[in-house]
Amino acid sequence: MSRPNAEHIHDVVVIGGGPAGATAAHDLAAAGHDVVLVDKQGRIKPCGGAIPTKAIGEFAIPQDQLVAKAHAARIIAPSGKTVDMQIGNIGYVGMVDRDVFDPFLRERARQAGAEYIVGSFKGLEHNPDGTVTATVADKADKTHAHRLTARMVIGADGANSAVRRAAFDKAKQPPYVFAYHEIVKSPQGADPARFRADRCDVIYDGRISPDFYGWVFPHGEHTSVGTGSAVKGHSLREATRALREASGLADCETVREEGAPLPLKPMRRWDNGHNVVLAGDAAGVVAPSSGEGIYYAMLTGRLCADAALEAIATGRAGALATARKRFMKEHGKVFFILGMMQYFWYASDKRREKFVTMCADPDVQRLTWEGYLNKKLVRRDPLAHLKIMVKDTAQLLGLARTT
Ligand SMILES: Cc1cc2nc3c(=O)[nH]c(=O)nc-3n(C[C@H](O)[C@H](O)[C@H](O)COP(=O)(O)OP(=O)(O)OC[C@H]3O[C@@H](n4cnc5c(N)ncnc54)[C@H](O)[C@@H]3O)c2cc1C
Repeated sequence: MSRPNAEHIHDVVVIGGGPAGATAAHDLAAAGHDVVLVDKQGRIKPCGGAIPTKAIGEFAIPQDQLVAKAHAARIIAPSGKTVDMQIGNIGYVGMVDRDVFDPFLRERARQAGAEYIVGSFKGLEHNPDGTVTATVADKADKTHAHRLTARMVIGADGANSAVRRAAFDKAKQPPYVFAYHEIVKSPQGADPARFRADRCDVIYDGRISPDFYGWVFPHGEHTSVGTGSAVKGHSLREATRALREASGLADCETVREEGAPLPLKPMRRWDNGHNVVLAGDAAGVVAPSSGEGIYYAMLTGRLCADAALEAIATGRAGALATARKRFMKEHGKVFFILGMMQYFWYASDKRREKFVTMCADPDVQRLTWEGYLNKKLVRRDPLAHLKIMVKDTAQLLGLARTT
């Protein structure tokens, strides 16, 4: 049905040009569709910037976007005990700088044919013909607002999504921890026992985080050091100061101090049943336990683009729900397990200590790296799973030694 004042109708308007939105816009444009990508720009996304091998391959991330590669992780317990987890030959953790990575993704979408508007999303209007109009305040010309009418809108505007607030009940907001980090200049000639440029340190300690973990992620010239928590009153700044002290980064120059919410549970519904679907942090898709969100944002951006196209092609708005369905089919089990792990192992220092002990097990290390880097639950290795389960149970029941 045509509209009375016949504005141009785009196929899809994507709000938010982070990893989720830029991927959605890229895929839609590359497939020859009429897509507008909107981002307000102006703020570097606070982020540790660690991405798995799978993200690099699946989303064709060029090597020059990786400012560092980590080949191991050091896991640190409340007692100070450390376990080094070498990756071996199955991949590496790539490090991206979000002040470079996000503009690269947006530019890639633009080159594929997406129209790009720098502006801030303000609201949605649902039109009688089933289309939807997004109002966007232009960043450069404060007196100008774009009215962008489309068959579908993808909300990829991050953890505080304004599209989510406009299209869903306000109570429908994923639970989150607040994550804070400091970007510091990486030390020269550091003591490798405290800091290594090719190693990610992950600190499980109630003083650093009573319900999450702390990290030191080297990015070449810079390093991200920080922590997260949902516990009110826990000082993330003081915890970060302690982390810097312990890893020999106390005297390094501070480049930025910043924080943001980290949603840790996919929403039960990502679409409004008509013409809006959410991707990435806006839909709450960050892995519990690890806080990994970049790969999942890119993946859900892609799945939302597919779902929007299917809904347009078939005229069946119900197709929008396939984004969440496909995601949960592939990753729902892992998210559930990671949620249980966070709930159980991050509950006390006694359990954290046991958790770190468990990480010394070569089978645990292999399955952890396979799971993180390649997003595989290694089904072909039932014996290793069985061994881990037995050891796990022994730890839980206190039958195994923790030192
Ligand atoms: C401190 C911290 C450390 C983290 N470390 C890691 C890590 O090491 N590895 C990892 O995988 N994940 C990490 N994460 C999570 C990861 O950063 C997010 O999951 C990921 O950025 C989500 O991508 P997104 O595209 O959904 O949202 P975002 O990256 O938040 O992008 C949203 C985009 O929307 C735009 N926007 C927002 N509002 C509007 C509006 N009203 N109008 C127009 N545009 C708008 C913003 O400018 C932004 O570009 C970390 C998060 C935090 C807070």
